[in-house]
Amino acid sequence: MSAISHHAPDEMLAAYAAGSLPQPFSLVVASHVSLCAHCRVALEAHWSAGGAVLETVGKAALSDSLKSDTLARLDAPVSHDPVYRRSGIFPGPVMEALKGSPPRWKTLGAGVRQDILMDDERGSVRLLYIPSGQAVPDHGHNGLELTLVLQGSFTDETGRFGVGDLEVADESLDHTPVAGQGEACICLAATDAPLRFRSFIPRLLQPFFRI
Ligand SMILES: [Zn+2]
Repeated sequence: MSAISHHAPDEMLAAYAAGSLPQPFSLVVASHVSLCAHCRVALEAHWSAGGAVLETVGKAALSDSLKSDTLARLDAPVSHDPVYRRSGIFPGPVMEALKGSPPRWKTLGAGVRQDILMDDERGSVRLLYIPSGQAVPDHGHNGLELTLVLQGSFTDETGRFGVGDLEVADESLDHTPVAGQGEACICLAATDAPLRFRSFIPRLLQPFFRI
């Protein structure tokens, strides 16, 4: 059992606590927090700070009913704990996205498999299964990509990521992750806005490149 060494940036936890993180990233952050005591403590602090701000601002700016609705939502257990419980390596938020079923893997070649949990205008989230020693197919993401390791590990130009570690990558990072030895690497990966290609031809080809 190795310690988690790559965490969610604090601004990201703040955005998650405020409910302003895009859904694909929310799912990954919620999953990381479910595995990481360090980020859970930081998140609880954001939640209490958010509640305190609402208490103060609420008197002037929010109607009583809206305020109590908002505070009730903040206090609701569902916002802190997913409805679904962890199952095997899959945290509660992932089980929720899977609606309680095991992943339905689709082969991508070279032993790599994926299960797309969500893919719409807000972005996409997928589970990836990468055999040990195998490179993750190059997927030229634009925008931001979050990757959370659920089993095994991967290594790229920025370091080693084991179970619970969260990698935050943007387009400036040209990375080539390779799954570590031992167990296959299973990770949860999210990207925002479905790849913002600017020219016409890449947009046409995008469905074929999408991993
Ligand atoms: Zn953390």
